[in-house]
Amino acid sequence: MTEMTTNWAGNITYTAKELHRPYSIDAISALVAGSERVRVLGSGHSFNEIAEPGPEGVLLSIAGLPPVIDVDGTARTVRVSGGVRYAELARTVYAHGLALPNMASLPHISVAGSVATGTHGSGVGNGALATSVREVELVTADGSVVTVGRGEKRFGGAVTSLGALGVVTALTLDLEPSFDVEQHVFTELPLDGLDSAAFETVMAAAYSVSLFTDWREPGFRQVWLKRRTDQPLPDFPWAAPATEKMHPVPGMPAVNCTEQFGVPGPWHERLPHFRAEFTPSSGAELQSEYLLPRRYAVDALHALDAIRETVAPVLQTCEVRTVAADDQWLSPSYGRDTVAFHFTWVADTAAVLPVVRRLEEALDGFEPRPHWGKVFAVPAAVVRGRYPRLGDFRALARELDPGRKFANAFVQDILGD
Ligand SMILES: Cc1cc2nc3c(=O)[nH]c(=O)nc-3n(C[C@H](O)[C@H](O)[C@H](O)COP(=O)(O)OP(=O)(O)OC[C@H]3O[C@@H](n4cnc5c(N)ncnc54)[C@H](O)[C@@H]3O)c2cc1C
Repeated sequence: MTEMTTNWAGNITYTAKELHRPYSIDAISALVAGSERVRVLGSGHSFNEIAEPGPEGVLLSIAGLPPVIDVDGTARTVRVSGGVRYAELARTVYAHGLALPNMASLPHISVAGSVATGTHGSGVGNGALATSVREVELVTADGSVVTVGRGEKRFGGAVTSLGALGVVTALTLDLEPSFDVEQHVFTELPLDGLDSAAFETVMAAAYSVSLFTDWREPGFRQVWLKRRTDQPLPDFPWAAPATEKMHPVPGMPAVNCTEQFGVPGPWHERLPHFRAEFTPSSGAELQSEYLLPRRYAVDALHALDAIRETVAPVLQTCEVRTVAADDQWLSPSYGRDTVAFHFTWVADTAAVLPVVRRLEEALDGFEPRPHWGKVFAVPAAVVRGRYPRLGDFRALARELDPGRKFANAFVQDILGD
């Protein structure tokens, strides 16, 4: 590669021999057909080697494709090129009086890259971002374009695909009528006394709910409720209303965060935690996340509390969210209503990795699936055992990519063949 390319966090330097930014689908097809190993780079917000093609491979960015965002107001759908970021997509969708049902905490991530790793927001009734996808367009290993739509048998593997099936050039997403959201922040929710029923009530108190803690003390430092203004805001006796605007990381300026104190605003300016106009080009952090069946939430939180003195020294913030079950075979929320434990670490891999291992030991009994785009150390064989439809995905990968052109070391390890 002529230029040094790293991920957003700077903890991964891609070793690919070439980086290409083709400007047309034809150029992508020709490049893919003529290459032996290809991985696609989205916006580079993953924290591990999932996008790394290896020194003999080609890293392909589709950021050079003309951005397409075609809203069909009658069908309530949008066709979007894979490299478009959610912030830009959301602005256009909103201008048509429509909405995506949910967003991740940061809107700067690409659509294809996000759904490829099972990226999610929060909400007991909200599926991962991939659940909005109704059709995927891919350039596959021989350079041909394949379209897979909802209802087809292979659709279960086509969206959350870890980039292992081909280059996702465009996706069609379902939309709904636009809605407004208010954000209410509360402080100091105790873990003691929070039984499963109470946990469910807290997490269902609004359309999207997040709990934050630094684990320096037991319990949660902040609760963020994102209420749709067309739904009621129940009493929230569990914690006290915040008296100032908050950032999820204690001590960081709240100015970069989306509006709080119940000021209503459009969905895309409230569902992410961070403002679209705040564009961090790199981040001094690492992240890990584990997605567990929600019925384990409270026991697993106590397991975390038991190791908080190990976790806290390298932790910036821990966020607890919920994700509704979905049917993408490789989705970390496949087949189970989920609680997700997210960790934003300090940017020090050597200090963080031993803590990640300790954390994984503590959560092991709760069937955690690590987020595909974040730092984890769970052995591939264990991860494999947590995906009942892995065999179907493997067969689909074999069908669309018989020579394993799109399988890097990360993917080979996970697929295990
Ligand atoms: C600050 C920050 C906040 C985050 N917040 C959240 C959050 O709220 N919820 C959450 O779940 N995750 C979150 N993440 C993780 C992030 O959403 C995922 O890592 C996501 O995959 C990033 O998308 P990307 O476009 O940067 O993908 P990349 O990291 O570039 O790529 C990820 C994978 O997608 C593949 N890929 C990318 N584009 C294509 C394409 N066009 N065709 C085929 N394959 C492709 C790559 O090959 C790779 O396998 C966050 C990350 C950061 C840095």
